[in-house]
Amino acid sequence: MNRQYTESKKFTSFDKSFSSNIIFSEPDKYKLLEEVSYKSGNIINMGSNLSYSPLGFFKNSLSVNIKSFNRVLEFDRIKKTITVEAGLTLIELLDFTLKHNLWIPQLPGYPTITIGGAVAANSHGKSCATHGTIRKSIKSILLFHKNHGWLNLSENENKEIFELTIGGLGLTGTIVSVTFNLADIKNSNFITQKEKVNSINESKKIILEDCKDLPYIYSWNRADNIKSFGKGIVYKNYIDETPNTFKNFQKVKSNFRPFFLPLWNKYSIKIVNFFYLKLNQSSKTRQKENFLKVIFPFYGNESYFNFFGKKGFIESQLLIDEKKLDAFIDEFKTLFNKYEPTITLFSLKNMSGEKKFLRFEDNKICITFDYINNEKNLLFMSKVDGLYNKYDILPSIIKDSRISKETFRNSYKEEFLSFKEKLKNFDNKRIYQSEVSNRLEI
Ligand SMILES: Cc1cc2nc3c(=O)[nH]c(=O)nc-3n(C[C@H](O)[C@H](O)[C@H](O)COP(=O)(O)OP(=O)(O)OC[C@H]3O[C@@H](n4cnc5c(N)ncnc54)[C@H](O)[C@@H]3O)c2cc1C
Repeated sequence: MNRQYTESKKFTSFDKSFSSNIIFSEPDKYKLLEEVSYKSGNIINMGSNLSYSPLGFFKNSLSVNIKSFNRVLEFDRIKKTITVEAGLTLIELLDFTLKHNLWIPQLPGYPTITIGGAVAANSHGKSCATHGTIRKSIKSILLFHKNHGWLNLSENENKEIFELTIGGLGLTGTIVSVTFNLADIKNSNFITQKEKVNSINESKKIILEDCKDLPYIYSWNRADNIKSFGKGIVYKNYIDETPNTFKNFQKVKSNFRPFFLPLWNKYSIKIVNFFYLKLNQSSKTRQKENFLKVIFPFYGNESYFNFFGKKGFIESQLLIDEKKLDAFIDEFKTLFNKYEPTITLFSLKNMSGEKKFLRFEDNKICITFDYINNEKNLLFMSKVDGLYNKYDILPSIIKDSRISKETFRNSYKEEFLSFKEKLKNFDNKRIYQSEVSNRLEI
């Protein structure tokens, strides 16, 4: 291995639950990408390493980071298509497209996520009931694979590998560039409306029935104590219809640096949630909000993550059929009463899509919980895992770094087997592997 282009580094997952020493390379030319790949045994791709679980690295393996490949390669205003290199970040993409009143609406919630990372995770945004996942905007992909070389992927070319690559967690090779179909957006500001709710049932009714045609609708609910469980706010965002001239976003430094001592505990989260709810109830129920605040709410608010301290947190994101939600929440509350977990965030939104391969996608409700990473919470979460089969729940392996091989296989069932078989047919040496793919034996 040419030492000049690789170095040893320690990487930690975003949720802080996992660290590894790895070999790291950031090629800045396609020739170098080929060279470092040809000279390595196991490889995995890395974007901004913002996946909560360790998807972009593997002990003693090569992580190829292609953040230097961040150019806009082609843009067609008439056809509304753009080809960008996979190391481009979402905020860089938006800085370019919003000037033309165009964008992709499936934007995951942090602006420095890369295009490659978003595609490999089949990311979704707040409007995933209307717009689905990023898969819906992808026209074609240019992939580099150590053994197969350069491959064009689309519905018409190498369709099977195209399908495996979207949401394929970087296991099919390196996504070098992506062509997107862009959608119109009239304005880069939003109007936000807030509605107070007293229960999960009420949140569900507003999201699924009263406002089911509204693309941007989701809830924040309390889960810091059983008495207030479910109380919260439903947020409705509308794109402002008045035309505006877009100016590049003001960037802030992504300050992800965990505090030495954790600040989140069952008392602090209860106090913060109490005041957050009060503040939201008393502030204007309808107000103008800028794009970054609505689409990337943690940008500039990284303290939420830093407050977990060095041990970090675990996020559990689940897809569940709306008809099964009430019974699941009842059982969840029974377990909550018994095990008293500390939950810092609880949120609900609707999603549309198709359950396929490893993708976190379906016509279901998406529930998110953030937990402090401690023994008590891990025990509670293992009890909740026990409900997945009964309620046909799909957990996200991008978010939850704790999921066992058994839980994963029982949830992803034949979709996992089909992914694994097709991947093995494509790459019988299984060159591209991460800590997660190794743990789950994908
Ligand atoms: C604050 C925050 C909010 C988030 N909100 C959302 C959300 O709303 N919705 C959502 O879906 N997700 C969300 N995410 C998760 C995020 O979208 C995914 O984890 C995404 O994959 C991270 O991209 P990344 O550039 O950091 O990639 P990494 O974390 O470095 O890598 C993620 C995966 O992509 C693969 N990969 C990366 N680059 C390439 C490439 N060029 N070629 C092939 N494979 C590649 C890696 O191998 C790995 O499997 C959020 C994350 C954070 C930190």
